[in-house]
Amino acid sequence: MKEVTINGITLPAVGIGTWNVGDHPSQRQDEIAAIQAGINAGARVVDTAEMYGNGRAERLVKDAIAPFDRGNLFLIDKVLPQNASARLLERSLDRSLQNVGTDYFDLYLLHWRGTVPLLETVTTMEEMVKKGKIRSWGVSNFDVSDLQELWALPNGDHCVANQDLYNLDERGIEFDLLPVMRAHRLPLIAYSPLAQGDSISGKLATNKVLQEIAANHQATIYQVMLAWTLREPGVLAIPKSGSAQHAQLNVQASSLEFTSDELKQLADTFPKPTSKQPLAVI
Ligand code: NDP
Repeated sequence: MKEVTINGITLPAVGIGTWNVGDHPSQRQDEIAAIQAGINAGARVVDTAEMYGNGRAERLVKDAIAPFDRGNLFLIDKVLPQNASARLLERSLDRSLQNVGTDYFDLYLLHWRGTVPLLETVTTMEEMVKKGKIRSWGVSNFDVSDLQELWALPNGDHCVANQDLYNLDERGIEFDLLPVMRAHRLPLIAYSPLAQGDSISGKLATNKVLQEIAANHQATIYQVMLAWTLREPGVLAIPKSGSAQHAQLNVQASSLEFTSDELKQLADTFPKPTSKQPLAVI
């Protein structure tokens, strides 16, 4: 099983996303069971946010993680940009901690950049670390210029991760952002690693190369997509699933190793960017 180290903690490289969970009471039990199946299969990271269902996803996470040892989990939460100020951040954080039923987050992310000055957010994040409410902080949807601005600030280099969109169909960050992050040893948290189940275009689901490589490994195309995001070190992928079976398959996908021929086939089919791309976000 592949691993990634964030803030000095080595974790399995497949975690669990929670966007859009907790929205439908009829699916709640399955969604809880899926998170639990992922943890039972070896996942330790659960990613959530105050934004998701206005706290509903956080409250579902609370129920899902209840049977597990908190110390073995690595919980990520995110503050909305409009709440990332000296005045509001702690209030958001306290509400999220209460929703999730824990007294600290392992990692707290600025969900995306807003109008609050970065220095104010960094300073407040640092205070929350001192208070023990978070073990570390990071950012999300940051491009190269955002990171450079961040790193120039006092304590800006305490940022321990950047969460960005990354999957076979969205390789834009490979042009400059990923190399810059690697040079700074800043891990990537790859969101929507399954291209949201390919629900938008369906072009991945029907792709012959993906199907062929999946068959080579007696795997599903989703496992191939997920394993591809982890083919190089320094990446944590956080697929979301409301199905226990999918959640298990996702964790198991981290053991899948590609041959160099397979990697070339994938690169030919889903080419790497050859120029700077605007940062893709969802
Ligand atoms: P994903 O790429 O994780 O895709 C989720 C979809 O894939 C669901 O429809 C799910 O369906 C399906 N799926 C999951 N596993 C399998 C499988 N093994 N086989 C077949 N289908 C599967 O999309 P998300 O956008 O949810 O991204 C993942 C997480 O990243 C989010 O949940 C959230 O935590 C985070 N995120 C962060 C953002 C940010 O701005 N920082 C933005 C977007 C996401 P099913 O439930 O039926 O399994």
